Amino acid sequence: MTRNNPTHLNRRSFLAGTAAGASLIALHPFSARAAAGQVHLRLMETTDLHVHVFPYDYYSDKAVDTVGLARTASIIDAIRAEATNSMLLDNGDLIQGNPMGDYIAYERGMKDGDMHPIVTAMNTVGYDAATIGNHEFNYGLDFLMKSMAGAEFPVVLSNVASKQGAGPRADTTLFKPYVLLDRVLTDGAGEEHPIRIGIIGFTPPQIMNWDSKHLQGNVEVRDIVRTAEAWVPEMREAGADIVIALSHSGIGADRHTEGMENASVPLAAVDGIDAVMTGHHHLVFPGTAYEASAAVDPETGTIHGKPATMGGFWGSHLGLIDVMLEREGGEWRVAGFETSARPISRREEDRSVTPLVESDAEVLASVQAEHDATLAYVRRAVGETSAPLHSYFALVADDPSVQIVSNAQTWYIRQMLDGTEYAGLPVLSAAAPFKAGGRGGPEYYTDVGKGSVAIKNVADLYLYPNTVRAVKVTGAEVKDWLERSAGMFNQVTPGEQDQVLLNPDFPSYNFDVIDGVTYRIDLSEPSKFGPKGELEHPDANRIVDLQFEGKPIDPAQEFVIATNNYRAGGGGSFPGADGSTIIFEAPDTNRDVIVRYIVEQGTINPAADANWTFAPLEGTSVLFDTGPRASNYLSDVKGVEIEEAGDGPDGFARYRIRL
Ligand code: MN
Ligand code: MG
Repeated sequence: MTRNNPTHLNRRSFLAGTAAGASLIALHPFSARAAAGQVHLRLMETTDLHVHVFPYDYYSDKAVDTVGLARTASIIDAIRAEATNSMLLDNGDLIQGNPMGDYIAYERGMKDGDMHPIVTAMNTVGYDAATIGNHEFNYGLDFLMKSMAGAEFPVVLSNVASKQGAGPRADTTLFKPYVLLDRVLTDGAGEEHPIRIGIIGFTPPQIMNWDSKHLQGNVEVRDIVRTAEAWVPEMREAGADIVIALSHSGIGADRHTEGMENASVPLAAVDGIDAVMTGHHHLVFPGTAYEASAAVDPETGTIHGKPATMGGFWGSHLGLIDVMLEREGGEWRVAGFETSARPISRREEDRSVTPLVESDAEVLASVQAEHDATLAYVRRAVGETSAPLHSYFALVADDPSVQIVSNAQTWYIRQMLDGTEYAGLPVLSAAAPFKAGGRGGPEYYTDVGKGSVAIKNVADLYLYPNTVRAVKVTGAEVKDWLERSAGMFNQVTPGEQDQVLLNPDFPSYNFDVIDGVTYRIDLSEPSKFGPKGELEHPDANRIVDLQFEGKPIDPAQEFVIATNNYRAGGGGSFPGADGSTIIFEAPDTNRDVIVRYIVEQGTINPAADANWTFAPLEGTSVLFDTGPRASNYLSDVKGVEIEEAGDGPDGFARYRIRL
């Protein structure tokens, strides 16, 4: 097998005896006070790394201090040194989620024997075991199996089978369902003891919907809790002294429901499991991210009284479970435990970020070549656009920078709802301009010319790391959603000239354009909703001529709207979007969906379709300010009559619209 990195030092330091040589490191109390026959075992977790090795944001093409296994590796060294015995585990979502992952999947590929960079980096750090997250399936099974083939640590996953049997234990699982690691632990008196540590892995059954095109007909999934109930007794029968669950699943409802996505709470209740590593939610546990429940104690970090942790995401934290084990009658017993999560950076009150650790040079070096290739990849064309992508007129006309987002969201949600009960509903898409001048200044616009599109341009199109959601709404809610958006504009007096169009206190990210319907905005009406979404003028109708498929919209008809987690969860207080209407929670970010859309389409045509315009107001004109480079695109704007009107303040250019 050829490896990119054949000579790296594996720093696996289980039982490295680090405590003796690290006089500056304070020993964890468990290690300090362990007596003869007592053993401190520290379990360390990374989760949801998503290919983040370098502390680098490839979308904005700049270094950051909040992410990267190279940073986490440095705290791993220190944290290992605090304990006499330690193990490092990973909880999945490894090979997808940043442009380095896309570069390997779409550009370099995985041939037999190729190393995936996240696996190279993990080999360098030295892991004891890992499980498989839902995102591992995004590029297909062949890619996944080749990526994990280079792992110098066991990879376990119990609830996905290439061939299902009568019950979980009769399945032909895709990976080993669990592994039993025979280790030697050192007790407080320096004496060594053998131990058998069982590690079992789980991933959300929802992979069958999220990656149906790769998985239907090729693998089958089982419920996480039912699978655990089948395998854990076998692990115990096979001599496991302790069992650790690697649960690539969030901390969700206490009560088990068949096939639940976030099953870590009922999983923790399964007899024979001693500790649960969680993930998938990209949150931190213990800590304030989760509320207490009958089963979950987010302060002490326990679920059903057992230790549990979640180490953030992208390498932001290391999740820690410290266990004190006691040898009693030839058996190991958990005598005590503590859980915590340690960050790699700190956010200050002024929102600046202070790194708490330097990058590990050896980890950086192990994937330097792939990092450099990824930089070239994000700066190079991955597709073509047959129309310029700009946002200079995004607040006054249907616009290509918003259109491309809606095109990609609609394309994605149609695939995701295919074969579900919602497949028959029309899919609309809501998207808002993020870079639209305002307080960002006259340069703060998206401006990508016709021709090549690079990955780093996608950050321009979609500024935030939101994830995709679909909501189900009525025709009446579609209209009110648009009424809420139309608060962007000041009320205009018919017949008057040069009135100020835009309300400076209304953020552009709340100006949702809904694609898939056509409508006009009557600026002579007051806004139905106030700046915070409060109902101000119940009888106002700024949205007129609202049509679906060329006919007036039926207020009772049901529609799906593709949007993001912020809006769907109630952000901006939009009618029809208070969290209760969500029918699909995507695992993918809007940005990833746009990249995939561009790569798969090759050439995109983001030319706006002018599905919304202002309603004509005889003899009336308004003024608005935009970036001076807008003049390059003036002739492209459809559905509105715009003319230059001199300079605006602070470097902006002024334009006039005759309504
Ligand atoms: Mn994830
Ligand atoms: Mg449109």
